[in-house]
Amino acid sequence: MLQSIDARTGQPYGEPWPESTPAQIDAAVAQAATAADAFAATSAAERAALLRALADAVQAARAELVPLADRETGLGLPRLEGELDRTTFQLRGFADVLEAGGAHPFLDEDTVAGAPPAGRPRMTRVRIPLGPVAMFSASNFPFAFSVLGGDTASALAAGCPVVVKAHPAHPGLSRQVAAIASKVVAAQGLPEGVFRFVEGGSIEVGVHLVQAPAIAAAAFTGSFKGGVALAKIAGERPRPIPFYGELGSINPLVALPAALEKDSASLAQSLAGSICLGSGQFCTSPGVIVVWKDAGGDAFVADLAAKLQALAPHAMLTGGIRGAFDRGIAAWRGHGQLTVLVDDAEASAAGTPRPFLAEVQAGDFIADHRLHEEVFGSAALVVRVGSADEVVALLKAIGGTLTATLWGVPAGVELPDEGTLGIVRAATQVAGRVLFSGVPTGVAVTAAQHHGGPYPSTTAPFTTSVGYAAMERFLRPLALQDAPGWLVAREGVPV
Ligand code: NAP
Repeated sequence: MLQSIDARTGQPYGEPWPESTPAQIDAAVAQAATAADAFAATSAAERAALLRALADAVQAARAELVPLADRETGLGLPRLEGELDRTTFQLRGFADVLEAGGAHPFLDEDTVAGAPPAGRPRMTRVRIPLGPVAMFSASNFPFAFSVLGGDTASALAAGCPVVVKAHPAHPGLSRQVAAIASKVVAAQGLPEGVFRFVEGGSIEVGVHLVQAPAIAAAAFTGSFKGGVALAKIAGERPRPIPFYGELGSINPLVALPAALEKDSASLAQSLAGSICLGSGQFCTSPGVIVVWKDAGGDAFVADLAAKLQALAPHAMLTGGIRGAFDRGIAAWRGHGQLTVLVDDAEASAAGTPRPFLAEVQAGDFIADHRLHEEVFGSAALVVRVGSADEVVALLKAIGGTLTATLWGVPAGVELPDEGTLGIVRAATQVAGRVLFSGVPTGVAVTAAQHHGGPYPSTTAPFTTSVGYAAMERFLRPLALQDAPGWLVAREGVPV
């Protein structure tokens, strides 16, 4: 059964309702499959109109949706207002990209007379929609990575019908947004299969959806465990499908001594805020802070600890996520090589989670694989290093991460020293996004954005789940040889 739960009190409210049955999931996928050809054949302008209408409808329902989201997630009204704005911004942003012709880059090579290799037939390279996409909503962004979030927006922009699997952490909100989406699809004169919705509080619903033969791709934001399990299922189908899993990440942040000489206090403040933002429930939350073993580093760590101690993270999204946070912190508390810097076990046990910070030496961190695992929430490890080589070894030990932040790399055109260069090289090798200022929380929706990274941060490091390139996940390249004019004019999609 599904049930709305007040995130702040942990108490259920309203009536529970049943999850989607296998027959209902099959029916939703069948409708999406039936709609796929007609939707693929819509023009970019028609899909842009759909995305704009969805944005307008979400905007119009703001007063009803935001309080509902707040009660089910506890994320607070200002954050949720902003997140709704981000959601409508990205729906409209994909519409802009479609109108500018960005969905279907088109490469046309004329015939060259003569025998190959010098001669060739006319070749036209296009990209066509993949077909119905299974979309798993995330718990931590009830608007922007949920029912009408970036994955849905990018799949619809690409011309693929979507079957959304709602997240059980905000089931009431998901239903409302889905009802809005279905109404908009109908009002645009599109088949209802363009947007379908299934819901569940058990893993069977998602497994059934990914196994449905007509599903052509799946997009997921959530845990490493869930993402890897579903990626395996997607790969073991009789017809394996692409699985775009955005999983957890520990997002190392390296504070070079030069940065701390200039700006230690304000950097400590912004870092403490980033660790506690949204109660640490961000896939880009900084989990490992790398600081040199010197006086500037000592002062920075003491300041960061004081600033973290003063912050008060709000209730977490679900009892399950809170339980995982408490277990993660308990393991760190009992770890022989960690020195605890900020902890408030008693207050944390009695109410909302308290921030946690501990320190470890680089060698101990590198040697213990358990310390490389994400603790989802307001918690981080300070790793003390003695050299640039140690930072490189640490980044390589972490492996794949959504982001790596480097503070203090010289900004000009002159090459930095060899040690700094090595750190930059290692960061580019392990991360999907390398930041040279600021904090990793807050992911801009732009054309150049890349929100992905080497495994284990994602299952598909060549793709992004944020920004306009996200659409490429749902478009398959196709070469047309000596194609008729009408098919070239329609960019490879027959009417
Ligand atoms: P989750 O447990 O991975 O759940 C996400 C979705 O995947 C849900 O719809 C869930 O379905 C489904 N699912 C999970 N395991 C599955 C499996 N083995 N087979 C089929 N479906 C499965 O993530 P969550 O509930 O949002 O949070 C739990 C943890 O995920 C957090 O503690 C955090 O570590 C991580 N997380 C990461 C991000 C990120 O941005 N990368 C965001 C949120 C959470 P049901 O719930 O219906 O079973």
